[in-house]
Amino acid sequence: MDTSKIWLSPPHMGGKEQQYINEAFLDNWIAPLGPNVNFFEQQLEAFMGQSRFVAALSSGTAALHMALVLLGVKAGDEVLCQSFTFTASANPIVYLGASPVFIDSESESWNMCPLALEAAILARLNAGKKPAAIIAVHLYGMPYKHDEISAIAEKYDIPVMEDSAEALGSIYKNKPCGTLGDIGILSFNGNKIITTSGGGAMVVKEQAVKQHAIFLATQARDNAPHYEHSQIGYNYRMSNICAGIGCGQMEVLPQRVIQKREIHSFYTALLDNLPGVEVFKEYATHSLSNFWLTTITIDTKKSSGRTAEGLRLAFEAENIEARPLWKPLHLQPVFKNALYFGEKVAETLFNTGLCLPSGTGMTDIHKERISSVILRYFN
Ligand SMILES: *Cc1c(COP(=O)(O)O)cnc(C)c1O
Repeated sequence: MDTSKIWLSPPHMGGKEQQYINEAFLDNWIAPLGPNVNFFEQQLEAFMGQSRFVAALSSGTAALHMALVLLGVKAGDEVLCQSFTFTASANPIVYLGASPVFIDSESESWNMCPLALEAAILARLNAGKKPAAIIAVHLYGMPYKHDEISAIAEKYDIPVMEDSAEALGSIYKNKPCGTLGDIGILSFNGNKIITTSGGGAMVVKEQAVKQHAIFLATQARDNAPHYEHSQIGYNYRMSNICAGIGCGQMEVLPQRVIQKREIHSFYTALLDNLPGVEVFKEYATHSLSNFWLTTITIDTKKSSGRTAEGLRLAFEAENIEARPLWKPLHLQPVFKNALYFGEKVAETLFNTGLCLPSGTGMTDIHKERISSVILRYFN
């Protein structure tokens, strides 16, 4: 019997990745520049459409950091950030000497609550502190309520940083996630829907902004034969080797979205009729999730004592990885002094939810092992 580890969302190669890497070796493009970097950017630009420009960077976190720099965030500023997210969404605020102000989620998309956002803006304006930026996140691939968030952002003239690290391939009202904010960011970490092993990208509206981002990401070197610098730069460009993996992965991205959505359907059929269990689904037809991870919540009032943690442990006993939802950042020890606006939506999700194994390489045997754990736990 197969008892090998089933991971939450492992890398899934398409087959062409090594070919691009071999070409890089043959031509000695072993550097954070080269034909794979340029081609990967072209592929992403074609995929995103909307006349957007893409700069490939070393990680999603690096992209977030530089995006905040480009949006003008500086020491002493406050940045409004969704609380229900991975810590990488907020860390770059602190890198810049600014402070995060955390915002609760609403229960339909699990993302930034427009009401809590506006309450936070009004409270901070009253305190004489105009927030410098908004960081909204498409968590687990589910698009946030862009129309509502951007209406508030425009009303108070605050730029939006769109964290689309988990949502490559998701769509909001016919527009790809990543193209909705003033700046969008993507991640190609090993667990994301496609990977470059480690990597990220910034999605911007103008060619000149892309060029400036690349300039800053390559140590802000001025045009001179020697090394001349009139600004502080970063070493954040993507390696041509990593980009080679990305070029191969882009060929299978549409297929990966279909596969992630099929995994979501598999779980919906399996779980939706079990007492107290709810599979997280799209709240409107205009909002299409890539279902990077399929997630569920368990209402213990209806589940006869079964819990998300109980199910996680049942998976663990069978060498299957499931994981609690993101712990809201306002509850993290490192952010204990940060301001927070909202109720307990994110906190309740954290206490009742679970991420299920969602790897697109999942085999029928994996599915049988997963089904049998679920059926045993609920019987
Ligand atoms: C993965 C992730 C990031 C960071 O991306 P890295 O490439 O790992 O640095 C940022 N935000 C969210 C929501 C993520 O899931």
